[in-house]
Amino acid sequence: MVARRIDGKAAALAYRAEVAKQVATFTEKYGRAPGLDVVLVGEDPASMVYTRNKEKAAAKAGIRGELHRLPEDTSQRALLDYVSKLNANDEVDGILVQLPLPKHISADAVIDAIAPAKDVDGFHPMNTGLLSTGRPGLVPCTPRGCMHLIAQTETELTGAHAVVVGRSNIVGKPMAQLLLAEHATVTIAHSRTRDLAALCRTADVLVVAVGRAHMIGADHIKPGAVVIDVGINRTDAGKLVGDVDTIAASEHAGWITPVPGGVGPMTIACLLGNTVVAAENRLSS
Ligand code: NDP
Repeated sequence: MVARRIDGKAAALAYRAEVAKQVATFTEKYGRAPGLDVVLVGEDPASMVYTRNKEKAAAKAGIRGELHRLPEDTSQRALLDYVSKLNANDEVDGILVQLPLPKHISADAVIDAIAPAKDVDGFHPMNTGLLSTGRPGLVPCTPRGCMHLIAQTETELTGAHAVVVGRSNIVGKPMAQLLLAEHATVTIAHSRTRDLAALCRTADVLVVAVGRAHMIGADHIKPGAVVIDVGINRTDAGKLVGDVDTIAASEHAGWITPVPGGVGPMTIACLLGNTVVAAENRLSS
């Protein structure tokens, strides 16, 4: 068997076109575009690329996107004050503070300070609580994007065994919640899991979010499984690769996402989608 590729770029383009239509409807209805404000502290090169891409993608969809660049030595107090100004600004529908933050700032303190209604990353405990209790809220972009990609394969999730490798608050845990909400039987694996390969081989849907290049190979894959590779790793040669050895895993998998061009593009598309959801919820309530 050779796995079929799940084209994240194409899926993201289609979803972004849908979001652009929602933005147009919103703008007509409320007389202004939805607003997304992204805060970047410091000059981490990867974060600079990510935030610029988010700003560009917002503009393309018709969203008012603004990137706020603060110096590396911004104090935690000053950042919290900055966030509370954005919270109070009525034109701001979505706030995203790019992670990681410099070491002297607590990411938890900053996440807690963002108004839950504007928390387009879906990291605020209010939104994670809503997700885990099955109530509507803002859902983290990467897992939301993964669900969109799984839906492309038309795989029946009810009763399927889904294994999520990785238990971060950003990816692994919310991913497990979303799969559970679709009635999959979910197992979360992590660094202390025994015999990861044997566990993964029982997965009808395998989502890997670890950050270790090519750690998942052919011996981790159940024949026909849907494999979603969230990992982004840079090799010594400067190439971007996922956590899954795509070529080896493709021998057994039914469907697989490439890296790059899989989960990454969907993450940004879902951020735009979340901004429209946040804007609509705020203005219609
Ligand atoms: P974290 O470092 O926060 O979490 C990694 C998880 O992997 C932890 O739960 C850890 O377990 C687990 N882990 C580590 N080693 C092993 C192992 N040997 N076997 C099984 N599990 C292991 O990472 P993130 O969740 O933030 O990100 C994961 C990857 O996804 C990264 O490569 C990141 O760059 C990428 N990413 C990609 C995005 C995209 O848009 N495509 C968005 C976000 C992230 P433990 O908890 O026990 O330590």
